Amino acid sequence: MRKNIVAGNWKMNLVSSEAKKLVSEIKKFEDKNVEMIVFPSSVFLQETLSESDGQLKVGAQNFYPKDKGAFTGEISMSQLKDLGVSSVLVGHSERRMYFSEDSAFLKQKVDAALSVGLNVVFCCGEPLDIRESNNELVYVKQQLMDSLFHLDASEIANCVIAYEPIWAIGTGKTASIEQAEEMHKAIRSWVLETYGEEVAENISILYGGSCNAKNSKDLFSCPNVDGGLIGGASLDHEAFVSIAKSF
Ligand code: PEP
Repeated sequence: MRKNIVAGNWKMNLVSSEAKKLVSEIKKFEDKNVEMIVFPSSVFLQETLSESDGQLKVGAQNFYPKDKGAFTGEISMSQLKDLGVSSVLVGHSERRMYFSEDSAFLKQKVDAALSVGLNVVFCCGEPLDIRESNNELVYVKQQLMDSLFHLDASEIANCVIAYEPIWAIGTGKTASIEQAEEMHKAIRSWVLETYGEEVAENISILYGGSCNAKNSKDLFSCPNVDGGLIGGASLDHEAFVSIAKSF
């Protein structure tokens, strides 16, 4: 059975005391039917992990896909694993755009994370011009083929897919439930074609892009939307918990 997941991408926000406070509030919410994950800035992963006390999962926003070596400023997946991090984000549009992470590099990141037992939240999604020219399905399918669908069925079982249309991220413009469901249904059908029914039925597909406490209920009611990857609204514990209550 696929999991309902609400994940918070804090991006480059908060300082350590604020992160701890946010976790201490969020962890009061408990619902066995919802998995909550937060992705803090790496500088306070340790504090977030201790404050979460095993009640929330903690993931990393970024890492470098080498085990160790002369890569000044970078963090390895083994270092993350050693800290107790459970998941990593790969393919977020901000990393693709501002840090030039291309599909070949994202494929390496996916492999590196899975090789040490980290789960992957793989982000995909089209820019506005692709949506306006009605090419979003082809575009997103290609992103998945390029960096994710080389995995075998046992590996992809440790991945979650987050569909995040770039035009909806941080813009206040959310995909309509029809747009979200159409893409999520298509993603599940490509997983089905590639890996068969069991994998397709079990993989969680999250929606991201201006998802908030007002629209989460409608979005999560779509049959193929299994939760959300939340940016802005994850910095407010009331909004984040209210999103988690939307299933
Ligand atoms: C994100 O960056 O993953 C995201 C979904 O951001 P927001 O919710 O702020 O649009």
